[in-house]
Amino acid sequence: MTMAAFEPAIETRALTKSFGTFRAVDGIDLTVRAGTVCAVLGPNGAGKTTTVRMIATLLRPDSGSARVFGHDVVREASTVRSLIGVTGQYASVDEDLTARENLTIFARLLGLSGTGAGYRADELLDEFGLVDSARRPLRNFSGGMRRRLDLAASLIARPPLLFLDEPTTGLDPRTRAQMWQTVRELVATGTTVLLTTQYLDEADALADHVVVIDHGRVVADGTADELKTAVGAAALTVRVDRADLATAAAIVHRFRGAEGVVTAEEGRIRMSATDTTSVPELLIALREAGIEVRELSVAPPSLDEVFFAITGTTGTHRVPEPA
Ligand code: ATP
Repeated sequence: MTMAAFEPAIETRALTKSFGTFRAVDGIDLTVRAGTVCAVLGPNGAGKTTTVRMIATLLRPDSGSARVFGHDVVREASTVRSLIGVTGQYASVDEDLTARENLTIFARLLGLSGTGAGYRADELLDEFGLVDSARRPLRNFSGGMRRRLDLAASLIARPPLLFLDEPTTGLDPRTRAQMWQTVRELVATGTTVLLTTQYLDEADALADHVVVIDHGRVVADGTADELKTAVGAAALTVRVDRADLATAAAIVHRFRGAEGVVTAEEGRIRMSATDTTSVPELLIALREAGIEVRELSVAPPSLDEVFFAITGTTGTHRVPEPA
């Protein structure tokens, strides 16, 4: 086994960064085990990007420390850079060149020889299902293909640690699912991933470990299931006929134990409830109002609801429905 197997992929202690008098990152302790996916969540302006940029050697911390596989991000910045891949930094690709040409150029920039660079480009195009489009200029690429090419470019040097910054923002559900599959395959081969995302279902689906940051501090830390349990509320869903939705929502709203957001859409009323013992009373109240309950379920809260409970803001942007 290599030493890397024993070192956390990322370890920060009391990491801080101020911009002027504003403390954007205020003492972050973060440990990411090698070979896992860690999702960093937080409302806009919470300090996620600043934290990630410090770990990725792109921004110097004011105080505290950050290590990548045991290497200090300030004193051993070039070693750290050789161990990481950062997506989103290949925005300056040439639109008139083909996908293969772009990848080959990046590979050359990373020090691969001419043949080596071409070979690695072909390997990645194959892995990312871009072989058919390899010889088309980038300007004809869809958003999803660009994102895959960006991810492919960040993997040229086979980095053991990958930073994925909002990898599926703006993608349609099918392309999103493909990206998730790609990330899972990378992790299965031992890659460690630090993910920032606006989609809490993405964190739920991919992350072994979720860290919620707010006002520059870690406010929650654990597996998605641990966070759901810690919040202590269940999610209650009631499905009724659309025509009954408004009346039913009003009844649910008055229900003892109902807390947090009550959302009513597509015939479903959803809310968080800390006390589910009075669910029978709710059913009786709905029946007395002449409303037929088509479905009722009590389940652990979604990560969205957890996020709302912790930060008081909603974290998600709605994912577009498939056309
Ligand atoms: P978002 O989800 O919106 O990207 P974030 O959690 O990534 O938010 P950061 O980008 O880390 O947040 O920013 C944290 C705070 O620091 C914000 O209030 C931001 O305005 C501020 N900030 C970030 N970079 C700078 C900078 N270079 N100069 C001044 N202020 C900055």
